[in-house]
Amino acid sequence: MSLTVAIIGRPNVGKSTLFNRLVGKKLALVDDTPGVTRDWRAAPARLAGIDLTVIDTAGLEEAFDDSLEARMRKQTERAIEEADVALLLIDARAGVTPLDHHFAAWLRKGNTPIILLANKCEGRAGAPGLYEAFELGLGEPVPISAEHGEGLAELVEALLPYAPPEEVEPEDDDGAAGGTADGKPEPVRAIQLAIVGRPNVGKSTLLNSLVGEDRVLTGPEAGMTRDAISVEWTYKDRPIRLVDTAGIRRRARVDDKLEKLAVADALRVIRLAQVVVLVVDADAILDHQDLTIARMVLDEGRALVIAVNKWDIVTDRAGTLKQIDDKLQAQLAQVRGIPVVTMSALRKQKLDGLLDAVFNIYEVWNRRVSTADLNRWLAGMTEAHPPPAVEGRRIKIRYMTQVKARPPTFALWVSKPLDLPETYIRYMVNGLRDALDLPGVPIRMLTRKGK
Ligand code: GDP
Ligand code: GDP
Repeated sequence: MSLTVAIIGRPNVGKSTLFNRLVGKKLALVDDTPGVTRDWRAAPARLAGIDLTVIDTAGLEEAFDDSLEARMRKQTERAIEEADVALLLIDARAGVTPLDHHFAAWLRKGNTPIILLANKCEGRAGAPGLYEAFELGLGEPVPISAEHGEGLAELVEALLPYAPPEEVEPEDDDGAAGGTADGKPEPVRAIQLAIVGRPNVGKSTLLNSLVGEDRVLTGPEAGMTRDAISVEWTYKDRPIRLVDTAGIRRRARVDDKLEKLAVADALRVIRLAQVVVLVVDADAILDHQDLTIARMVLDEGRALVIAVNKWDIVTDRAGTLKQIDDKLQAQLAQVRGIPVVTMSALRKQKLDGLLDAVFNIYEVWNRRVSTADLNRWLAGMTEAHPPPAVEGRRIKIRYMTQVKARPPTFALWVSKPLDLPETYIRYMVNGLRDALDLPGVPIRMLTRKGK
């Protein structure tokens, strides 16, 4: 059973690009004979364990002569009928257009569930359109970049409620584990986990220790994108999906000459994950490349756990821990409280500690703070240390809300948002982290012009 998704939206928002991203490049090369009305393209894809049939509606509007609205409607109507869920794309760089509004209003009347995707959100250029997208009344927009492959983990998350429950692997001997009273497996969302790190730190060993050496890791099948490769297991009854096991196997063979490749690879994997375990070698702790990867994880808004491996061969344990702590304070000061665990992948020591840390940080990463609590806290913060004055007039912060979780993202309504200094925003973020219990996760603070 696959989930049928239709990619819809006005021309040029990136529908074909997303289609290609999901189904793999080869299928994108379709033969277009001018003047011939073609039907939509549909192709199978697999995204982090979900089987999809993806329908692309791009280009179909050219077959009709009516107004653009009417053409879009025709092109889309049938695709939506076929689909279990529709992905409505907007171009976050261009912002929400009247045509997007028109389209959304029409879609809201239908029965097909809509996931709103704000495309072209790589970098920061998409932010304004992302906010405007809330106005479409189709729920929280998911920021993605079809071209750069960003936001796929969030897309997976948005699709999961519609995905058919996966087959659950039979438990080895204790048949009691898992499942509901009537014996049916209960679909639970798996945490998307990535294991990254320099070559030879012990990533492959860790993977094997976590999921069992005998576990067969399947490679890409025909028609499958490389991003789809994953392995899933459970810990304390909670499913974990490790993304990109192929990357781990491949990287296990590369040597230090290919450092650059390893970093580029890590970035691709980080973007598929929710929680990233950065494995570091207890022998060469948090060197330049480790810190580069750690920063990438945080910049991408993922939850980070630092796993200090090969703890079995460390003699000066206290000294090593102190060294790590110093490095983190000096080099990753912007995110206080990043969880650090020590372990031995080879001896299977303290793997529970690692996974507990993964689930804890995942919970913080998902945390939502009520608007009432936020504004109470805001009043205290601005009173203790008011924002500076610009040209004789004090900048006023009027209001604050959490716009999303994963990672916790807040919006400040400010009288002069562009004048609010970066240091003040940092003061707010640090205060928020302590007062409202958000240790160790990236926090995003956005400013908007207050009414
Ligand atoms: P469609 O008409 O909706 O199918 O749009 P296309 O997929 O043909 O994309 C329209 C244009 O947007 C092309 O130039 C793409 O390269 C560009 N595009 C698509 N996705 C992205 C993205 O994530 N970021 C940026 N910056 N451009 C994108
Ligand atoms: P990868 O390149 O990050 O996947 O690293 P590997 O998993 O291939 O491990 C590199 C080397 O480190 C291998 O020789 C492993 O046996 C060794 N190793 C991995 N984990 C540990 C550990 O916890 N303790 C010790 N002493 N050696 C380890």
